[in-house]
Amino acid sequence: MKAPIPRWLGILLFVLLLPALPAAPPDEAAKRLARDIFQQLIEINTTDSVGSTTLAAEAMAKRLIDAGFSRDDVKVLGPNARKGNLVARLRGSNGPRKPILIIGHLDVVEARREDWTTDPFQFIEKDGYFYGRGTQDMKVNDAILVTAFIRMHLENYHPDRDLILALTADEEGGKSNGVDWLLKNHRDLIAAEFVLNADSGGVTTVKGKPVNVDVEASEKLYADFQVSATNPGGHSSLPVPDNAIYHVANALGRLERTPFPFELNAVTRAYFERRAALETGQTAADMKAILRTPADAAAVTRLSADARYNSMLHTTCIATKMSAGHAPNALPQLANANVNCRILPGHSAEEIQLDLARIFADPKIVVRYVDDAGNVYGRTPEKKAFPPIPPPDGILKPLERIAGEMWHGVPVIPDMETGASDSIYTIAAGLPSYGVNGIAIDQDDVRAHGKDERVRVSSFYDGVEFYYRYLKALTSRQ
Ligand SMILES: [Zn+2]
Repeated sequence: MKAPIPRWLGILLFVLLLPALPAAPPDEAAKRLARDIFQQLIEINTTDSVGSTTLAAEAMAKRLIDAGFSRDDVKVLGPNARKGNLVARLRGSNGPRKPILIIGHLDVVEARREDWTTDPFQFIEKDGYFYGRGTQDMKVNDAILVTAFIRMHLENYHPDRDLILALTADEEGGKSNGVDWLLKNHRDLIAAEFVLNADSGGVTTVKGKPVNVDVEASEKLYADFQVSATNPGGHSSLPVPDNAIYHVANALGRLERTPFPFELNAVTRAYFERRAALETGQTAADMKAILRTPADAAAVTRLSADARYNSMLHTTCIATKMSAGHAPNALPQLANANVNCRILPGHSAEEIQLDLARIFADPKIVVRYVDDAGNVYGRTPEKKAFPPIPPPDGILKPLERIAGEMWHGVPVIPDMETGASDSIYTIAAGLPSYGVNGIAIDQDDVRAHGKDERVRVSSFYDGVEFYYRYLKALTSRQ
């Protein structure tokens, strides 16, 4: 029961106190809840081989319903028993604004007990870190988002539009990508103005000290090509110069020596402009020099020695697999290599296939496109890296404000995802998509997909507070 305060007095007190309220740190209850959810998610195995995203989705659905969400607003849906996806809706006031969709994946990359120091599917707190598969990629943010939804609901907070949370299957691999499946089967359930993807973005730190907050605003296109040569073969005691293995080996040698051209786009240009201000010495000078027209070629070469910058400045194509021959004493009849390309926005896979053929410059070499299921095609299907959509002020300004509060003046830098995330599906469906999250990871401690994956305990609780504040900043009238 509440104390009987007259309504007018309550309102007066509220108005008087409002400006004096500090940005509250996460209260103990929110921290406890977030930690419990995080532990629960880590300990539900969601790998493609033996795990189930349905179990994780149902556990999160139960949390939301127990906290008072209507059953109509919390759904677990999927193509089969093991690949469930959660879709939850926090109702906003009935304004004209379309919902915001926030996505995260529930599945994790395989992890073997013998490769790890601790059990990857046990949530362990040790030396200021939480350990377990998914502590970086990305159950950490799934837990944060579920906590934010529960917290806002318990406060009776009404955003100025609906917020939709989709936690999904098979981002890391597998045949049942949840975002793709939801777009194809339940488009109405996740219809939104734009998408926040918590799988990318984040706070870059060096020894725990924040350097910048990334917002992912563009993504490279993934494409595999099979590079092959055939030959009638014969007895290896009677070799001839024309050899399938040599053809492929020479083609790959030419690829190694032929980088794709340097190119900037709106997002990578903004990235290097802002990043240059944080660097010193040669690196800062080089970052400025590549922004000039024409760009300084020596600066491009120096920066490209760093794999991360190289991938932002160029389309990359790299040999990843090879197989050839059928017997130690026979001339090879077939040699195959897989070349994996990450294509800059604005270019198509078909264009890159032609580029590869030109670089190989060998009529004996055949370049074919390979799809995600491993099917091989002579002609590359229509596939283009979408042009970058820089984040609009409505997304960037609140992000800069909250990042400023939490990480004290550290700049927000639009960035291009050089890997691939589920944003590829939402962007293709016409939904502008931005990678945003508040987890700080040291530049040299990226352990996603690796052994002893971990996140700082303090970084987790900052992340809990970040998404709660950011979602409110996006959906309350300023
Ligand atoms: Zn991920």
